[in-house]
Amino acid sequence: MELLNSIKKTMGGEAKPAQVATEKKVEDTQEAKPVANKIKLGHVHMSGCTGCLVSVADNYMGLIKILDDYADLVYSLTLADVRHIPEMDVALVEGSVCIQDHESVEEIKETRKKAKIVVALGSCASYGNITRFSRGGQHNQPQHESFLPIGDFIDVDVYIPGCPRARSS
Ligand code: SF4
Repeated sequence: MELLNSIKKTMGGEAKPAQVATEKKVEDTQEAKPVANKIKLGHVHMSGCTGCLVSVADNYMGLIKILDDYADLVYSLTLADVRHIPEMDVALVEGSVCIQDHESVEEIKETRKKAKIVVALGSCASYGNITRFSRGGQHNQPQHESFLPIGDFIDVDVYIPGCPRARSS
């Protein structure tokens, strides 16, 4: 580059002005990270319709900003390729717990052990919602017939009811 510039100067030219301007523009628009350490965030899917997760994803650029600057998504059945519940700062739990499903009961207890803050995301997690009316007999799991809110199994720190919960909450 030095050589190229000296050749251009010799010939009466300059280093590419457009390139210099572009580099400066990129520097100017870079934002400082607002937090030094991102929180570890997980989404735990119990028995629900996934509408609450969709309403989180509906925040589009807002969600990207959160994942860029504030939180690392360390666990999510649909969005992260992780099999076992890791240690988390915040667990967003969607859906209620089926009491005939031993794995779900263990999963919600494990979530409480691994997360500093547990959030009941949506009405199914908060108070059972539509899953309270289940009579069982679903095609692939006919034995699953009774569902309880997560607060019946573990201590919950924050409740955000709504079906789905408000996109902005
Ligand atoms: S609260 Fe509503 S939107 Fe959320 S999982 Fe339950 S049924 Fe779906």
